[in-house]
Amino acid sequence: MVQVDIDLAKCTGCSHCKDVCPVNVFDLVVRDLVPDVIDDATVGAKFQFRGEKSLAVNGPECIVCEACLFSCEGECILITDDENHVHFSVYE
Ligand code: SF4
Ligand code: SF4
Repeated sequence: MVQVDIDLAKCTGCSHCKDVCPVNVFDLVVRDLVPDVIDDATVGAKFQFRGEKSLAVNGPECIVCEACLFSCEGECILITDDENHVHFSVYE
């Protein structure tokens, strides 16, 4: 089963992941509902943190198209595929 993980400290709430995912893996939630998240200063220096954070609510549906990985501002999405290969975000 494919696993999709998000490092929430780096998630800016840009919504790009939700916008590009063809199988609706992601959902944006109000950041106050995501407890104990301290924003990553290195990401904050480059991008603005918005009022929401992304959660992977449907990870097993991921088809590993990698679209989200290239659109993630925080480079905070990590996908582990069926063969246990790990795919990292690289923002382009
Ligand atoms: S890699 Fe998976 S989670 Fe990311 S956009 Fe494609 S299907 Fe969605
Ligand atoms: S693309 Fe990355 S930074 Fe933007 S909302 Fe999704 S997980 Fe967060």
